[in-house]
Amino acid sequence: MVDKNSKMMQRDLEVIWHPCTQMKDHETLPLVPIKSGKGVYLYDFEGNSYIDAVSSWWVNLFGHSNTTINNKIKAQLDTLEHVLLAGFTHEPAVELAHKLVNITPQALAKVFYVDNGSSAVEAALKMSYHYHLNRGKRKPLFLSLTNSYHGETIGALSVGDVALYKETYEPLLIANMQVPVPKDQSEASASEAVAALEKVLQEKAHEIAALILEPLIQGAGGMHMYHPSYLVGARELTKKYDVHLIADEIMTGFGRTGKMFACEHADISPDFMTLSKGLTGGYLPLSVVMTTDEVYNAFYCDYNEHKAFLHSHSYTGNPLACSAALATLEIFEQNDILGENEKKRVYIKEKLEKFTDLSNVKEIRQQGMVAAVELKGYEPRERIGLRIYEYALSQGVLLRPLGHIIYFMPPYTITYEEIDKMLEVAYEGIKEIRN
Ligand SMILES: *Cc1c(COP(=O)(O)O)cnc(C)c1O
Repeated sequence: MVDKNSKMMQRDLEVIWHPCTQMKDHETLPLVPIKSGKGVYLYDFEGNSYIDAVSSWWVNLFGHSNTTINNKIKAQLDTLEHVLLAGFTHEPAVELAHKLVNITPQALAKVFYVDNGSSAVEAALKMSYHYHLNRGKRKPLFLSLTNSYHGETIGALSVGDVALYKETYEPLLIANMQVPVPKDQSEASASEAVAALEKVLQEKAHEIAALILEPLIQGAGGMHMYHPSYLVGARELTKKYDVHLIADEIMTGFGRTGKMFACEHADISPDFMTLSKGLTGGYLPLSVVMTTDEVYNAFYCDYNEHKAFLHSHSYTGNPLACSAALATLEIFEQNDILGENEKKRVYIKEKLEKFTDLSNVKEIRQQGMVAAVELKGYEPRERIGLRIYEYALSQGVLLRPLGHIIYFMPPYTITYEEIDKMLEVAYEGIKEIRN
């Protein structure tokens, strides 16, 4: 008899082309059809449960089917599901924008709504270029860090540096340059990278609109982490050379790094900040580009001066998504989430110590509610991450390694017992694959 999971999988494969997937893999690798979710758990059609240790691609903050968020969306659903945001406005968009301005770094005063992470990056790049143009300067280049990831639409892909996603499309991409990311979490490496940045700015700043970076943690680049002093240096230099600083906090925002925003670790205020993922607690697609009054004012003039930012998406500022974001911020306001996360971080740190005993473990990294175990001694073609993924699934944990980097980015609501299970399964999986 074919079970319900297999049936669902067959129906799926008849018609769905999945993201970030070689579809042929599914000849042997079963899809996991999920029927429901509650807290950190996902449930399939046969009643098996999986701890969502990657927060469903880094979006979920307070668990699946969270009562506070559910109720807020349900109330909004019966009030207003959507309205265009050009010429019109609505309460959730207004309230959310005020809250975001209040909690983000001081100079960020305006909110431009978009509807997913890559599109927010696109909008920020266009805005930065257009700002300089409105002030009489043509600056067609963007600067980004090696090993960075900013999404996969053409512009966002251009400023990224993960070969796996980028290489194929190289001829299609827009002009960009990379400077080295600090090679590890030490302050010395940060200083080296700041010096390299200054060298490039000295030569090229007149052509560069903005430096875009993922503050503190490069997510898709393998949870690579660096010291906050790099951000201090990057902020000083970009100011000095009239280049914008775009902080892409799509992954790091909303408490992931231990503070509400990663920029706070360096006490810097960027010219642009992009937010998405955790913004709606992992419920609905929504993103924003936040910027300064100075940028906003460079576009503000009579219509016929042709300086307006004529960029839009159909679902810009969707009310249901904004209400999910408001509920998410309400949970932060009413609970000491960052304080509780800090205790969990320390607990995870202690638990990860025993991983260093394994001969195939190269390094352990941690920043806030992100931890990574980097393995050594494997070739990419061995697809070691896939083997860990399959093992962990069989044990009821959803891990989705980035190549040979096993990482943990669970919802903040994860309990200490669930942390134990998540790490134990990873440990056994890593032990299992030793040659
Ligand atoms: C996920 C991510 C993006 C892209 O967001 P999408 O919603 O997946 O398009 C951009 N930047 C960073 C840092 C991300 O982690």
